[in-house]
Amino acid sequence: MHTQDAVTIIRCLSDNYAYLIHDAGSGDTILIDAPEAAPIQAALTQQGWSLTHILLTHHHADHIDGVAALRDAYPQAQVWGAAADAHRLPPLDHSVGPGDVIDTGAGSFAVMDAPGHTVGHVAFYLARAQALFSGDSLMVHGCGRLFEGTAQQMFDTIAGFAALPDETRIYSGHDYAKANLDFAARFAPDAQALALRVAELPRLAEAGAPTVGVTLGDERRLNPYLRAHLPQVAQAAGMPDSPAEAVFAEIRQQKDNA
Ligand SMILES: [Zn+2]
Repeated sequence: MHTQDAVTIIRCLSDNYAYLIHDAGSGDTILIDAPEAAPIQAALTQQGWSLTHILLTHHHADHIDGVAALRDAYPQAQVWGAAADAHRLPPLDHSVGPGDVIDTGAGSFAVMDAPGHTVGHVAFYLARAQALFSGDSLMVHGCGRLFEGTAQQMFDTIAGFAALPDETRIYSGHDYAKANLDFAARFAPDAQALALRVAELPRLAEAGAPTVGVTLGDERRLNPYLRAHLPQVAQAAGMPDSPAEAVFAEIRQQKDNA
């Protein structure tokens, strides 16, 4: 468990992350994604917090399997998820869609449309903490695999995130930072930003520290999926003078084949 500003980061399963945000005044404690119950319960117990809100980004098992046990342990906790995926998410107390806002004592979470990895995928933006919980859409130095959606959908998802402020911290569903950075290095990232991060990742690994929480501003210098509109990235992808959408799709395809 690591705390980064307002966000408590919990490592789950082999490479998943779950997140807690707590508000002392109201007692509200919000969880984003529930890969497994045990480490989340351990963090709650250690902090003396009682879970009140469970927000789900998408239906994959490694994001929802902990929900049932957490509801047993915290009967007052309610569950929010995408209405579009209600049929394959755990039972929802609150079905939400893009543009909805989830008001909590810790601030308002804006529900953002984030299809591509799955079609019903949503993300949650907490402006008060300048935090984007992106699940398996935008990831640190990369983006999620296209299991259901199209490259165009993921392009639009990430374009929506790109409108957020530079200070926004990205809290994604997995720790794929090392593999994503190795791949991102092919696509003309900012050399200084790349060198800094190449040096930092082994230090984080050694300390057992999370790789998430990078800022959108830094990602604009590294993440090829946020840079597909740049000529040097199109060139590196082997698609000079192509539209950003096509470059984006090509990069995602190359990652699948990497
Ligand atoms: Zn997933």
